[in-house]
Amino acid sequence: MKMPVLFIGHGSPINIVSKNDFTKRLAELGKHLPRPRAILVISAHWLTDGNYVTCVEKPKTIYDFYGFPDELYRVKYPSPGSTQDAALVAETVKTTAVKCDQTRGLDHAAWAILIHMYPAADIPVMEMSLDYSPFNGWHRQSLPYYYELAAQLSPLREQGILIIGSGNIVHNLRAVDMEDVEAAPYDWAVEFDARVKRDLIERNHRDLLDYNMNRAMALSVPTLDHYLPLIYAIGLQEKTDKLEFIYEGFQNRSVSMRCLRIG
Ligand code: ZN
Repeated sequence: MKMPVLFIGHGSPINIVSKNDFTKRLAELGKHLPRPRAILVISAHWLTDGNYVTCVEKPKTIYDFYGFPDELYRVKYPSPGSTQDAALVAETVKTTAVKCDQTRGLDHAAWAILIHMYPAADIPVMEMSLDYSPFNGWHRQSLPYYYELAAQLSPLREQGILIIGSGNIVHNLRAVDMEDVEAAPYDWAVEFDARVKRDLIERNHRDLLDYNMNRAMALSVPTLDHYLPLIYAIGLQEKTDKLEFIYEGFQNRSVSMRCLRIG
């Protein structure tokens, strides 16, 4: 069975231990999706010079966040990895090298969501990095580079691999309200999130790839790291793939939690 593709807005690490509408939705999703053979997470938190995939049989849980309650640092997500599937990921991309990283574990873009979706941690998980080399990371004309790279991962869907882009459509940490998860979102956050929603429904990928700095986008996407996993998800969307919003809403005033399923 061909696996769907997901984009998950992961939000604050506090979601690791929270029972809220978002984490409950992730738990439901894990129960209803076709069971994957392996999972590949495109991580907003793994920025590299070039493209990498984790080639590790037992990935460590990485605590790549600071100043949160102690209990978060005691949670482990001991899923296996898969060096075999990682090799397959690397081979599948033809236009650029995807290198094997033999030390990297799983950062919270992966495990903070998978702990809700697949709490048994019994499915092999790999991560793929974002190529954040100066040439590719910061130029608006480079967004098609990620879109075209993602499209090449498509055959993995036929092989039972669930591909998840994990980032946030609106992600402004300077404007974040850490005290109040449910604080009303900024007008610019609502505006940009709605614009992306409309473009997704209309399959207007061209505009989603046009990193034009109007006010709402400049504030919503101050850096590309959390937006790029969305570009991977739409890069994988094929003509016959339906689109479904599986969660929408905001946390901490400046973070869109919008999640989508493709196919
Ligand atoms: Zn993040």
